[in-house]
Amino acid sequence: MHNRFKKNPTLRYGMVGGGATSQIGDSHRVALQRDGYYDLLAGVFDINPQDGRKFGAELGLDPERVYTDYREMAKAESAREDGIQVVGVMTPNSTHFAIAKTFLEAGIHLILEKPITTTVEDALDLIQLARKHNVLCASMYGYSGYPMVRQARAMVENGELGDINVVQTEFAHGNCATAVEQQSEGAAWRNDPKISGQTFVLGDIGTHALHLATFITGLQLKEVSADRQSFVSGRVLEDNANVLLRFDKPEKSSQAAAGYLWASGVAVGHRHGLGIRIFGTKGGLEWRQEHPNQLHFSPLGQTPRILELDSPELYPCAKRLLRVGAGHPEGYFEAFSNVYADFAENLLAKIEGSEADPLSQDFPTLEDGLAGVKFLEACVKSSENNGSCVICAIHAD
Ligand code: NAD
Repeated sequence: MHNRFKKNPTLRYGMVGGGATSQIGDSHRVALQRDGYYDLLAGVFDINPQDGRKFGAELGLDPERVYTDYREMAKAESAREDGIQVVGVMTPNSTHFAIAKTFLEAGIHLILEKPITTTVEDALDLIQLARKHNVLCASMYGYSGYPMVRQARAMVENGELGDINVVQTEFAHGNCATAVEQQSEGAAWRNDPKISGQTFVLGDIGTHALHLATFITGLQLKEVSADRQSFVSGRVLEDNANVLLRFDKPEKSSQAAAGYLWASGVAVGHRHGLGIRIFGTKGGLEWRQEHPNQLHFSPLGQTPRILELDSPELYPCAKRLLRVGAGHPEGYFEAFSNVYADFAENLLAKIEGSEADPLSQDFPTLEDGLAGVKFLEACVKSSENNGSCVICAIHAD
């Protein structure tokens, strides 16, 4: 068990988006407050100025630091001696680029929601800007913070699965099986290409499934063949997609892995529906987010077993994330918090000029965000060409 509480020094944090009615704002606030690494001091919380101010007051913030425009916030905060050091951006997709760019240019470190941008060019620009301004960035693939996801990654890295042959990953729920975009603003913008980008479920949830696959296996995606449908009447963007994946061949293995990704909002009966199965030459793994503290492991020729949070074979990278005794369910909020805490450890080390704990360095980066956007662009091209194979290189050169 690991007590990560750290109060001094803290990182001065600001938030863009995440207002009272937002879906993801509360997850960020819980995560940043959990371990004492951050103080939420400033924000522009809502597209509606009045609602934003009201919410900032409810959070107990200094009214001077509750802004109504992100440009004003970046300017004012970077001019203050006690201005924010890091900003979390959690607004609808099409706004990410301009907001992130403004804070990067002000030299403010960044935690950016996914998909990080709506075009590959914009994602590459953000990476260049982050390098130019020497700014540390994370993209918020929060599911990578589960201990059993880190454990799966370590098992693959340590050769317990052998060479990876097959990866099957899915994020398929049934929450959009009816025209929910007519009832909720959050669902409406996700189905508007001007705000969501060119995809709905692939960007909204499919990129999480992809990140899980590449994070755990260490493989890089090479090409995709995608088939997208929109089943709900009147819906413009896809609410279901099946994507064949081909990965780069790692130097040490004799063949390249193949895989499959399913993203859906019309999988009636599936609740959250994120999961992954990985099959290698020496064994298989399965993890489902609705039962996050169990990892199914089937070593070749041995009895399959289920690893639990107190299993002795857990690697240090997973053990360090346990916060309570095994058997107490740890879940979604803790995973989000783990990503925030890892990012904070790296940012504090950067500021202090010290070396961060190597085990804290697995937080999702802007390059991971770029990989997601490249995947989306390749899927769109492929499905527009009747599922033809489209190359999806993922490096930011
Ligand atoms: P939402 O529509 O519920 O909330 C968006 C919030 O941003 C609202 O408070 C809105 O008023 C505010 N906003 C919009 N434009 C703004 C601007 N220019 N300045 C300041 N505030 C502004 O959306 P959501 O579901 O919270 O999603 C936000 C982002 O988070 C999206 O990119 C989405 O893909 C991502 N997301 C990620 C996860 C995850 O697990 N990592 C989960 C849900 C959403």
